[in-house]
Parts: sequence; C-alpha cells; structure tokens
Amino acid sequence: MQPFSIVIHGGAGTILKEDMTPDLEKAYQQALDEALEAGYGVLEQGGCAVNAVKAAIVVLEDNLLFNAGRGSVFTKKGVQEMDAAIMDGKNREAGAVAAVRNVRNPIELAAEVMHNSNHVFLSGKGANDFAIKQGIKLEPDEFFFSQFRYDQWKAMRDSDNYSLDHTHQGLEELMKDKKFGTVGCAACDMEGNIAAGTSTGGMTNKKYGRIGDSPILGAGTYAHNTTCAISCTGHGEPFIKAVAAYDVAAHMEYKGMSLHDAMHEVVHTKLIELNGEGGMIGVDAKGNVAMMFNSAGMYRAMKNSSGEKFIGIYRD
Ligand code: ASP
Repeated sequence: MQPFSIVIHGGAGTILKEDMTPDLEKAYQQALDEALEAGYGVLEQGGCAVNAVKAAIVVLEDNLLFNAGRGSVFTKKGVQEMDAAIMDGKNREAGAVAAVRNVRNPIELAAEVMHNSNHVFLSGKGANDFAIKQGIKLEPDEFFFSQFRYDQWKAMRDSDNYSLDHTHQGLEELMKDKKFGTVGCAACDMEGNIAAGTSTGGMTNKKYGRIGDSPILGAGTYAHNTTCAISCTGHGEPFIKAVAAYDVAAHMEYKGMSLHDAMHEVVHTKLIELNGEGGMIGVDAKGNVAMMFNSAGMYRAMKNSSGEKFIGIYRD
C-alpha cells in the first residue's frame, strides 16, 4: 500500500471574506468536507481513484451552492447546459459530455461514456439520448432551479455585457459575481493510480452552445499516472488556449519538474500571459497534492493518508 490522497475544488474567483456571511462560509466548508470525506472513504476502503473522484463530485453536483449539476447556472435561453469530464490516469481512458440537460450527475454520464461507449466525448442531444439508453438519472427542470442562480441570470439576461467576452471589464464583472463555481476532484489511490474529474454549468448567460475548458481533456481535466491528475476552474477560454491541465503534465514530463513547481508555472505564468484567471488542483502518483490559484480565492480541500487535512476558501 502506498500513500493515498484526494483534493477537490468548488470553483475559483473573487471570493472575499468581506463578501461572505458566517453562515454561508460554514455552508461551503461543510459541503467541501462532505465531498472530501465521500471521496476519501472510497480510497480508504481500497477503492480506485476513478470511483473516489466520482463519489466526491456527485456530492458537489447535488449541492446547490456549486455551479455544477443541480446548482448549474442559467444560459442565455434560461436553461441549464452542463459539461463534465473524467479521466483515469492508469490507462488514459476518458469520458466527457458537453451541453447536456436534465442529467442529475453529469460526472456519472461522463464515466458512463468512458466505460460503456466506444467514444470519448459526447455532446448535446446525442449525449442525452445516451444517458437515457444507459439509465442515467434525469431530473425535471424544476430540480435545477434556485432563486439565487435565477436572480444572477435575470440581472444579466438582457445585456451582452455578461456574455463571456475577453475584456478585462467583462472578466472583472464575472469574477465579482462569483460565476466560477465549477467543481472538480483529483485522487491518488492505494495502488498509485490517479484520476481527475471536473463538472460545471459553465458561464451564466452563455450562448451559442458555448463550451468551456472543463470537459475538454488536456484543458480543464487530465490524468496520466506518469505525471499528474489535474482539474481546473476559472475563465475557460484562456484555459483552453493554454491547454492548462496538460501543460502541468508536460512540464513534469519534459522538464522533470515536481507537481508543485509545474502547477506554479502554469497558474502564475502561463495562464497569466493569457489573462487566464482561476486555479487548479492536482495529485501525482506518489500521493502529493497541489492546489493553486491566481484569483482572490478558490473553494478547495484536501486529505491524505498521512493524516493531513485542509479546507480553504480565501488566499491564506
Ligand atoms: N471553467 C469553467 C468554464 O469556463 C467555469 C468555472 O471554472 O467555473 O466553463
């Protein structure tokens, strides 16, 4: 048995202590703790990294606090379109879905794509048809409704200012409203296999079938036992252009960097060059964990078999 570990995020952005109430802060901490323990429990019982990642993400998707699954943001048309991906670092098997609707846990659909389709990436109606065929749990629109998300959308639905653009102003506005609530997990199991997964509702008021980095392998999600397993969160477009998750692996593989140094380079140099605000979490196959962000805060948590545990929100 080797050291095992798990790390999760619930999104990055302008998350400031002065904007938070004690109750909300506690609710986030509890939600992160619950997801962390769900995933860690799988690892502790000898379960594989992929199952730990799924278990943690399902808990986050079911919680209205996060922009994934049930708490997904509204698109320009006033519906939820969700993206998710999962990757197994042992064999680089992977599954991803984009713009799926009414799927309770998109990470489970992504895993179903990985295990039971001959494909890697399914989108839109086709992905929904696959979900129905495989018996994946669907829910009516009302299940995904929350007043908080609705009000966020209502405030911006008639304006193009809030559709994703690349101006600094637009980004600041999006960050201020904490729109980056994607969830993700990376885990290293007792056998030294690693995996990563990411799930999101994307950006509030997104249109034209916009897809962010989260379900794109190499951009928002990546795993390979020889290097690392990574899940990203932030302004998706720069993360796609930076091939951010894979870039951490590339720095480790080709430059011999540690997980920590490679992630630091990508988050604090490579992404900054592209105005890519946000962060990422990751593990390597020795159980090392990293969590970094260039935004004001990132909901995050980690636990390992050496007894370390951390839950954080702000820049400490
Ligand atoms: N990266 C996600 C996207 O661009 C958003 C997020 O991380 O919250 O869709």
